[in-house]
Amino acid sequence: MSSPIGHSLAGLIISSWREKSFKPENFKILALYVFIANAPDLDFIPGMIMGKPNLYHHGISHSIGAAVFFSLILAILINRISEKRFWREFVLMFSLYGSHLFLDLISYDGRPPFGIPVFWPFTERYFMIPILPPVKHSHLDHASIPQFLADVLSAHNLYVISLEMMLTVPFALILILLFRKRQYKTAGK
Ligand SMILES: [Zn+2]
Repeated sequence: MSSPIGHSLAGLIISSWREKSFKPENFKILALYVFIANAPDLDFIPGMIMGKPNLYHHGISHSIGAAVFFSLILAILINRISEKRFWREFVLMFSLYGSHLFLDLISYDGRPPFGIPVFWPFTERYFMIPILPPVKHSHLDHASIPQFLADVLSAHNLYVISLEMMLTVPFALILILLFRKRQYKTAGK
């Protein structure tokens, strides 16, 4: 898996397609986009309640099936509340959720069954294309919460987060600059 910081940066990069600027008044909608980019990792919660955070991690929440289901529900809700176009919202939600699957897919995972069931429900096989180093959160399914936290707060994770920022921040800055430029042009017309 990647870190929540890596997933959040990916979410912000994708949302810059919709939000033309990162103003404080856009904070709520940006927070929603960041939440969706991290949503597959909500699968830590049932394990945390049982005192073993890894127990249900990297299950079907990390799959295209879950991405379609989650994006459909959100797009229907947003369409009803704000009358924004359904398919535009669906594509945005799917891209945000999908960015999480992509980053986890290309991160090394040393914990069986290795990777994520990305093509569920078509196949239950786990896939991994290990390009990025993993974020540590203990390899043990039955790791206790203190063991889990000791791994999460390790120097190794700081190194992975720095690497993710080096890979994503330049893209985010380029996109923000491009959108700013487009805004000035539109305002100047
Ligand atoms: Zn994940």
